[in-house]
Amino acid sequence: MTKTIFAANWKMNHGPPHARGFLDRFLDGYQHESGREVWFFPPAVSIEGVAQRVARLPGILVGAQNVYWEPQGAFTGELSVSMAKDAGARAVLVGHSERRHVFGETDDETGRKVRAVLDCGMTPLLCVGETLRERDNGKTLAVIHRQLAALDGLDGESLSRIVVAYEPVWAIGTGKNATPADAAAVHAAVHSWFDERAVAGGNVPVLYGGSVKPGNAQELLSEDEIEGVLVGGASLEPESWRAICAVGLD
Ligand code: PEP
Repeated sequence: MTKTIFAANWKMNHGPPHARGFLDRFLDGYQHESGREVWFFPPAVSIEGVAQRVARLPGILVGAQNVYWEPQGAFTGELSVSMAKDAGARAVLVGHSERRHVFGETDDETGRKVRAVLDCGMTPLLCVGETLRERDNGKTLAVIHRQLAALDGLDGESLSRIVVAYEPVWAIGTGKNATPADAAAVHAAVHSWFDERAVAGGNVPVLYGGSVKPGNAQELLSEDEIEGVLVGGASLEPESWRAICAVGLD
């Protein structure tokens, strides 16, 4: 059975005191269920505190929202992969649409970050997704394939350690989301891309992200091709995040 991943991207929210308060409320009543993992991507300053708080809890993992690919040096304001790891991160978001579209990160830079994360023994959560204009022009799959090409040259063992999130840019933070069937079609294309390469050990999980809420998570997760969710806005309140993490448990 593949696991279901519930990943919370806190973006530029929940510095250390807020992160502590969030976890107090979220963990009160939270119960780990086998086959499910909850991943938190707090801002860099909160990684260590969150990692320490969840260290002994099964099925909860902490990640970084961004890293730089160089191991050290004169890169003011940047965070290396090993620094994130030392703080307790086990995964890194790479290629989030805000990195690509607000900060101008290129496919090449995304590829370098994926390699740096893999080299440090951590999991890259690679985000891919098309803009509304690209979708309207029928370019969705071409864009996804172009973004996945950042992985070209990685061997099957490295590819097997990647998790992908399909996040249509037009659905992030907008309240709009892809229909489960539309999302599943893109997920199927991502799965085929990996299937065509010699990925060791089988399935690479593909999460869906873009305005996921307690009210639509069930419908999305009922698609076989959707192996989890990456959630921004609705992961900021402990109650709505717990409701999403509990989808399908009744
Ligand atoms: C995200 O930040 O990855 C995201 C999907 O945000 P939201 O859930 O707010 O659309």
